Order: sequence, then C-alpha cells, then structure tokens
Amino acid sequence: MLEPNYLSDFRCKARKCRTSCCTGWKIRLSSNDISMLSNCDAGPDLRRRIEKGIDLYGFITEDSRRCPLLDTDGLCSLRKECGLDPMPEPCKAFPLTERAFPENVRTATAACERIVELLWEDENPLSLNGSPDKPEKPTEKGLISARKTALALISNRLWSLDQRMKALLGFVEELSKAGACISPAAVRCAANALQVPLKTTVSFCSQDVIGFLKMIILPLASGKGSVHNDADTVLRSLVEAEISNSTTDLKIRSTFFSERFPKREIWFEKILANHILYTGFPYSGRFADLKLEAASLVSFYALMKLFSGILKPQSIDDLVDIIVRLSRAFEHGNADLVSARCFSSIGMQDYGLLYAAAVFL
Ligand code: SF4
Repeated sequence: MLEPNYLSDFRCKARKCRTSCCTGWKIRLSSNDISMLSNCDAGPDLRRRIEKGIDLYGFITEDSRRCPLLDTDGLCSLRKECGLDPMPEPCKAFPLTERAFPENVRTATAACERIVELLWEDENPLSLNGSPDKPEKPTEKGLISARKTALALISNRLWSLDQRMKALLGFVEELSKAGACISPAAVRCAANALQVPLKTTVSFCSQDVIGFLKMIILPLASGKGSVHNDADTVLRSLVEAEISNSTTDLKIRSTFFSERFPKREIWFEKILANHILYTGFPYSGRFADLKLEAASLVSFYALMKLFSGILKPQSIDDLVDIIVRLSRAFEHGNADLVSARCFSSIGMQDYGLLYAAAVFL
C-alpha cells in the first residue's frame, strides 16, 4: 500500500480541533452502520441520543450543526462508551480513504485541519511511502504514470506554482487527445509537449475573471446542489460580504496576503499535490472528459487563492480554516462538479480564463 509520507504522523486533534469533522456535516449511514448502531451495547443516555440522531434517510441529523453523539469535550460518546466497532464507517475512516484504482493508495483529505497542518509542517514536496502491493495491469500502467506525472509537475519548484498549474493543464489537454486508452507512451508524449503551453501567454479581462469566479461560487453558495455542510455557509458569507468587482481591491488584498505568508506557494503546492492524490486526478471517474477534471482542479486553485486573499487571514490557523472549508466543498461536496459544469456551460474551448483566474489573484 502506498501512502503520503506525512500520514504516519497523523493523530486526531480531538478536543483541540477548531473545525471538527463531527460538526456541520450530514453523515450518510449504510444499512450495516444503522444495524451496528441499533444493536450496540449503549447505556440509556447514549441510546436516546442514537435514536434521536438517526432519521428515516439514514443520516445523523445535525440541527445544531453538531453530531448528536459528539460530547462537549470534543470526543465521540459512541467511541468512548462502545469502542470502535459500532462506529459508522465514514466516522471510522475519516480523514483517510483507501483507493484501489489504479493502484492501492491510502490518502487523506485536506478537510481535516490536522492533515493541512501536517502538509505544511514539512515543506518538502509530497512523497509517497510504501510500495505498490498489486501487480500493475497493462491497462492501468498509463493511468499510474499519468498520476505520477501530475504529481511531479505540481511539485517541480523550478517553476512558479502558476507555471506548474499551466503546465499541468497543458499535460491534461494533450493527454485527452489520446482518447480512452491511456498508455505510458501517450503519457510520455503529453509530458514532452509541455514546453508549448508554458511559453504562451494568456490574455484576459480581469472583470471576466471575477465574473467567472462568481459564477462558480454562486450556485454553491445559494444552496443549489448544496454540499450540505459547513462549506455552504462559508461560501455564502464570502459571496455576500467579500467579493467585490474591484480588481484593484483584490490586488491590494492579494499583496497583503503574499507579504504575510511568504511560504504560501509551498503550502498551496502541498494542498494541490494532496488533492491530486486524494481525488485520483486526472482519472477520478467523475468526469468522462479530462478537461473537466482539469477545470475542477484549477477552480479549486483559483478559489483557494481568492479566498486566501479576500479573507485577510491573520495567522496560519486562519489560513488552515479556509483551506479546510474549501476542501470540504471540493473533496466532499459537489464544488468540483459545479465548477466543471460552469466551465462547460460557457463553452470554453481552452483553459484561458480559468487559468487566468488562478494566476491573476
Ligand atoms: S477534523 Fe481531523 S483533527 Fe479534527 S476532529 Fe476530525 S479527524 Fe480529528
């Protein structure tokens, strides 16, 4: 099993966590989860909370935006009283996910603040520990190679992060020409073509960029295709309070952010590399069209830069909180789908505007 190098250091922050995974979500329970919860050896108080928490649709409800089983000390009452066994699978696993395709990888989501902190504590590029534990099928070799190339590109510090994003988009663009059958040779060929997009310049109108970012954010913030979690609220407040049409204002905020966080480029690189690994980019299985995968990735990058600039984070903790919320929208909600849909709805044939949005801010 492969896993990112920071994972062995992961320990849940529990009561010290500011944005606990037990707040603001609706947890989908399987029939097995419900059965385990119904039959566990819970005392009367915990039993009452379990019964109250499971609704007809198999969700733990969270009227108060907290899991009803979360104690005031920040710990899970079910785990304390009954151990790990009856816990619903999503709760047991979070923030980890194991993926079997195209290779066995254990990954972790940046929706957990401890994961973001771990990513930033080590400033070296993200690397993988362990070794592949299943033979590579010939049909999967190209996919594995594409993933490795995407990670290598985003971690190449000889280029600025904006250049790397642009190169990555160029790579995906070339790769999409290979059609459904991605071979290692097609990946090499796409990687070799990267010099071309790096040399081109993108012309854009800054008002279009702001308009486009709003187009992505508004459906998320309005609750259409709601992500049913905290990210909705955050995105809504951002739209209502913060996004102005003034590009000058944005530039001032962006400069403030750059000065306050000189290591931001390394940190954003680490978040993007982790996102690539976590989502399985560029073959997540969510989009038939690779360009939509790329649109989703660059939207995540653009919004990460936008929110980091406009919210004026004062401390690393503030910045971690922004990344966590955005990651909840993109890695656990449908922000990736919404942003990719926005991209395709305006019929753009290339990544110009999206890319410009990312580099501009
Ligand atoms: S978000 Fe991460 S650190 Fe916080 S309570 Fe959940 S698993 Fe622990």
